[in-house]
Amino acid sequence: MKTGFTTRILHSDLESPIEHSAVHKPMHPAMAYGYEDARELARVFQGERTGFIYGRQGNPTAAALEQKISKMEEGIGSIAFASGMAAIAGTFAALLRKGDHIVSSRFLFSNTTSLYGTLTGLGCEVSLVDATDAAAVAAAIRPETRMVFVETIANPRTQIADLAGIGRLCAERGLLYIVDNTMTSPWLFQPRAVGAGLVIHSLTKYICGHGNALGGSVTDTGLYDWTGFPNIYEAYKKVAPAQWGLNQIRKKGLRDFGATLAAESAHRIAIGAETLALRVPRACENAARLAAFLASHPAVDQVYYPGLASHPQHQRASELFKGYGALFSFELAAGVDCFDLLNRLQLVISSTHLGDNRTLAIPVAHTIYFEMGAERRAEAGIADGLIRVSVGIEDGDDLLADFAQALAG
Ligand SMILES: *Cc1c(COP(=O)(O)O)cnc(C)c1O
Repeated sequence: MKTGFTTRILHSDLESPIEHSAVHKPMHPAMAYGYEDARELARVFQGERTGFIYGRQGNPTAAALEQKISKMEEGIGSIAFASGMAAIAGTFAALLRKGDHIVSSRFLFSNTTSLYGTLTGLGCEVSLVDATDAAAVAAAIRPETRMVFVETIANPRTQIADLAGIGRLCAERGLLYIVDNTMTSPWLFQPRAVGAGLVIHSLTKYICGHGNALGGSVTDTGLYDWTGFPNIYEAYKKVAPAQWGLNQIRKKGLRDFGATLAAESAHRIAIGAETLALRVPRACENAARLAAFLASHPAVDQVYYPGLASHPQHQRASELFKGYGALFSFELAAGVDCFDLLNRLQLVISSTHLGDNRTLAIPVAHTIYFEMGAERRAEAGIADGLIRVSVGIEDGDDLLADFAQALAG
């Protein structure tokens, strides 16, 4: 039976029997797994049988969540990590070698940009281009290019990568295409639709939604032909070629670096995932109302939200996504101080983080983009007074009233 998005998540645990007829998987905090027949233990170690060995390589609770993520992204398998950054760093560490080259976006989550600095120090090269244009990505490709990495909607300025154009380019050149789908969530967009080979998530954001657990994931969509990837070690080619990538990421990226998702976090994220398709449309609706209100307010200079017709990639967002996302940023008119405005907001919380059920706002240049310096901020289009708002699921009228009173003051 072909089932819908939420049905797939809700019934995922029941695909194998659960003790005591429970309707969802229990939490397994055990770190070691014992076998009655020692030969079985050896078979699991040698990859002839699936099973759990030691908690750093995965646990049954994280595995149940991995299955849900694979269903959400319609992928062939997923690996959970302790955070979104752990998933990104683990994937790069597992798949790249000295001398390799990555093409990526100038508009990227700031810690991913910082991680590129580390990779450069280790002997990889990274070209950051304007990924809203596939031609800019094409121009940066070299013989040593191993992957193209982009996000869907960039945070905080909401630029939208040329996701379909880059997908066609990667298919033509046989390049691994990795999409960080955190900002859209699998409810608004599935990167497999544009040919992505790997999909990354910070599960901390919309998929968890409640701001009470860190987590990350990488999903293989099954679209990339790993036999064309030169960095797979012989030891990891003993499985079907479709599994080579995940096999190497689980061993080299997860096991060897050890940023494993704890069972309790996996459990909380799995509960959050059940209501993703209910929460995200509500947050998007609230964001659209707020963005339109701010765009017409005299104390506001600019609003960056893909749902506004004035957004440079509004058309692209309409074609690719089921909604325009729940994050926007804005610049105040001259003379209005961003700190004063934030302090006047009563419901909206001054906080980093995004994809939370609560609405959070942050002065970007002074916080999350402070470390990278004025020059990089200018390149990324981050003005000193830019405020980022991650819109939650509060009652929309209450959020509008809060911004109205804060702007009036
Ligand atoms: C938050 C975020 C990350 C990092 O995720 P953590 O779970 O905080 O480590 C990566 N990519 C994007 C787009 C994010 O928003």
